[in-house]
Amino acid sequence: MALTARCPVCDIEMKQVSARADPGRLIVLDQCGRCGGIWCDKWELFPIAPEEAQRIDRVDDALLRQPLVLPEKLLYCPRCADRLQQFNDPLLPAGVHFLRCVHCDGIWLNRGDFSRYKEFQKKTRETNMPEEEWLRRLTQSAAQPRAWVETGTQGIFAYPQPPVEAAEWKTNIASGIFRLIVQTLLRLVLGF
Ligand SMILES: [Zn+2]
Ligand SMILES: [Zn+2]
Repeated sequence: MALTARCPVCDIEMKQVSARADPGRLIVLDQCGRCGGIWCDKWELFPIAPEEAQRIDRVDDALLRQPLVLPEKLLYCPRCADRLQQFNDPLLPAGVHFLRCVHCDGIWLNRGDFSRYKEFQKKTRETNMPEEEWLRRLTQSAAQPRAWVETGTQGIFAYPQPPVEAAEWKTNIASGIFRLIVQTLLRLVLGF
């Protein structure tokens, strides 16, 4: 974090940008002044407040709508020079591409990906998690970051899992609908 890093795409020195994180922390990221890509060391991406994306990852709408052209060449970690690998998480929305260092777990985001990811995180937060629950988890995560990075193979850098109640609620609705369909079919077949 304190060391200067070079952009894996442009090979020029990146500048440091501070981002507000929940709750009340500042995280220093590295950003390339030429391509706008952002480097997040391990643990840095997730806690940054989604509202910060607008400011840090300045992209115009036209650019956001353009399909992302990933660099053809193999990219290397600005920290430890190990390989950066495409991080495929089925829970992430299409169009968000992470490159993750196979060694230090830092994440490289091309210009626009940071905003897209944070927009997604914001939605997830609003729909799935009450504020207190979010804060509780975040506090937990801050105290024990490994809890949210190493407990699962999916979505590990994306977000804590939605609360169980939400999932149950959806299952109940689904089984309710299923019962209704079965009842209707029975009525049709048996004629009552
Ligand atoms: Zn660059
Ligand atoms: Zn690395």
